[in-house]
Amino acid sequence: MKPVAFAYVRPTTLDDAIDELAAAAGSGKILAGGQSLLPVLAMRLSRPGTLVDINAVAGLDGIDRAQETLRIGATVTQRQAERDRVAAAVPLLGLALPFVGHRELRSRGTVCGSLAHADPGAELPAVASCLGATLEIAGPTGRRSVPAADFFAGAMTTTVGPDEIVVAVNFPVAAAGEGFGFAEIARRHGDFALAGVVSRVRSAQGQVLDATITGFGVSDRPVTRDVTGLVASAAEKTDSEAALRAGTDDLAREVVNTVGDGHGSRAYRRRLFAVLAARELARALRRSRAGQS
Ligand SMILES: Cc1cc2nc3c(=O)[nH]c(=O)nc-3n(C[C@H](O)[C@H](O)[C@H](O)COP(=O)(O)OP(=O)(O)OC[C@H]3O[C@@H](n4cnc5c(N)ncnc54)[C@H](O)[C@@H]3O)c2cc1C
Repeated sequence: MKPVAFAYVRPTTLDDAIDELAAAAGSGKILAGGQSLLPVLAMRLSRPGTLVDINAVAGLDGIDRAQETLRIGATVTQRQAERDRVAAAVPLLGLALPFVGHRELRSRGTVCGSLAHADPGAELPAVASCLGATLEIAGPTGRRSVPAADFFAGAMTTTVGPDEIVVAVNFPVAAAGEGFGFAEIARRHGDFALAGVVSRVRSAQGQVLDATITGFGVSDRPVTRDVTGLVASAAEKTDSEAALRAGTDDLAREVVNTVGDGHGSRAYRRRLFAVLAARELARALRRSRAGQS
């Protein structure tokens, strides 16, 4: 199938892009890398009146570090972020990005586009949730900052308005004593995950200070939980991963609420989540204690 007819505009300033969205009166769609939007248009699952291509908008293409924050602009591709040394300051991006589709897709697909698309099985929304990233959103009434926890509103749904643009995402850079883990199970490399986890543990002098786990592919949006108590008590055991398993079984029952599909039932995804969560929390704990990120 082919998309229905649409108008195409390519503004060069953010103000003009916002004006174009306002003029489209709810029927405008932002085009970033097009790696999700174009298939959606081709299948006629979306019929926008106007595509607002943001790739020529000045000032959206930077990766910048300011103190403890890494800011990634709206037109930065996933491949640029993967290769950028500055982005290495956020080790979870380095762990997760190679699992976002294939390299060819990542050379067009943007970091912010993946967040705005909000696929429940996508890796980057889970990274943003686990790290407590903040999204910068611009619209006709000005700019606002939205924490990832308030950004994802459901499957393929965010709190961005139809006349707003995500202009950047801010990730906290890794702090001293932080360790991370990432794993997913997909039918083939490059597919969306059946279930996946992102983990973060921070410790000092052998003591666990805080720990977070995020599941993806297991609900209608990334699900993040504070697991500091669970990791702190497992950290005292010789086999931390085994000690974590009892806790992650309980967590899986609470966190994994997808109805399941032809690729995997809810019970199967619960098991995947429980096994991966224990393994990746143990890995993050080891890295945190070894000062390895
Ligand atoms: C075969 C295939 C496999 C894939 N596998 C994976 C995978 O394993 N994991 C994964 O995460 N993704 C996967 N993807 C999706 C891919 O990563 C996309 O690049 C990404 O989801 C969207 O980024 P984009 O820049 O291409 O956005 P686009 O396709 O241009 O836009 C996607 C949506 O987000 C909106 N949008 C984009 N940018 C903004 C913005 N700045 N502000 C507000 N709204 C915006 C658009 O209007 C549109 O609704 C796959 C895609 C394909 C075709």
